[in-house]
Amino acid sequence: MKNLKPYQLAFLLALPIAFLAALLVLLVDHLPILGIRLFIIWLLLLVASFSLFLVAIERFIYRKIKLIYKSIHHLKLGKELKDSLGEKISEDPLEDVEQEVMEWATTKRKEIDELKKIEQFRREFLSNLSHEFKTPLFSVQGYIQTLIDGAMEDKEVNAKFLDKANKGIERLCSLVNDLDEISKLESGEIKINYSNFDINALSKEVFDSLELKAQQKNIHFAIKKGCDQPFWVHADREKTAQILVNLIENSIKYGKVNGETTVGFYDMAEHILIEVTDDGIGIDESHLARLFERFYRVDKSRSRDEGGTGLGLSIVKHIVEAHGQTIHVRSTVNIGSTFGFTLKKK
Ligand code: ADP
Repeated sequence: MKNLKPYQLAFLLALPIAFLAALLVLLVDHLPILGIRLFIIWLLLLVASFSLFLVAIERFIYRKIKLIYKSIHHLKLGKELKDSLGEKISEDPLEDVEQEVMEWATTKRKEIDELKKIEQFRREFLSNLSHEFKTPLFSVQGYIQTLIDGAMEDKEVNAKFLDKANKGIERLCSLVNDLDEISKLESGEIKINYSNFDINALSKEVFDSLELKAQQKNIHFAIKKGCDQPFWVHADREKTAQILVNLIENSIKYGKVNGETTVGFYDMAEHILIEVTDDGIGIDESHLARLFERFYRVDKSRSRDEGGTGLGLSIVKHIVEAHGQTIHVRSTVNIGSTFGFTLKKK
């Protein structure tokens, strides 16, 4: 009886109504006035069908919905949690079901959107990755093959080809290193070792380490006027150095010959804002929103010529965010760029 099919239910309902109708026809035959007879027929049919429908709906439809509702609840809350909450199913399961289904649909839609985004991100990442590896790998393969095929004996070109193959290997190494760094940062494998240090002193150390690179373009390093004093921060010294190296290296790569790179510090109550400014080629506004994405480059060939992996800013962003801080960029084409990030004050 519990799992009746719709046609069985309809038949079961129709049967007693037909029976009642027949009974009433017999009954009214004995009543004297037609109006009263019809009224009584109407009233009795109304009461009978109301009761029948109520019982049917209650027994066969409502109960099933209640059961589904209970199952959903069971599934959603888990048995233990449900037991601890007790039987909290309301008396109007239809409304509850509607509400729950709507909530469920909204969360599922969000989950699906999120999964789609992740999937697209994964696909893009894989295709970028293979592309990034293919270029230097094929170039190394080409030079080595040419050397094997006879160029090794040619004193004019052999050293040059070896040097080019070596450059390709260097590129592959920096790619692998940067990817390794990103994956460690993302997995949280790298711990942030907080200490107190002077960011001004650290910036000068980074200037020294990049001096040779800067000289190749005659780029001058400076601490911004009025900022040349100790600024104590509470952060990971090594990783902050990495941020500065990446930003200052970029200021050289995308800087102009005879240009200048300055680093400034600003006291912001609880934080110190650090800004790396250059007077280089600048970045068009349309690129700024995606600049910190992995492998995103404004000018692909320039970045590759400069030995860029397209991962430097992504690493910087990860490190800044691992400190619970933020990074931003301002830039104007042909005027220059400023990358600013915050660190907690000592
Ligand atoms: P890359 O290895 O290509 O330098 P990054 O992640 O460090 O990768 O930077 C991403 C892109 O942002 C670069 O390819 C370049 O187009 C742009 N960019 C970064 N820093 C600067 C800068 N100081 N001036 C102009 N463009 C920059």
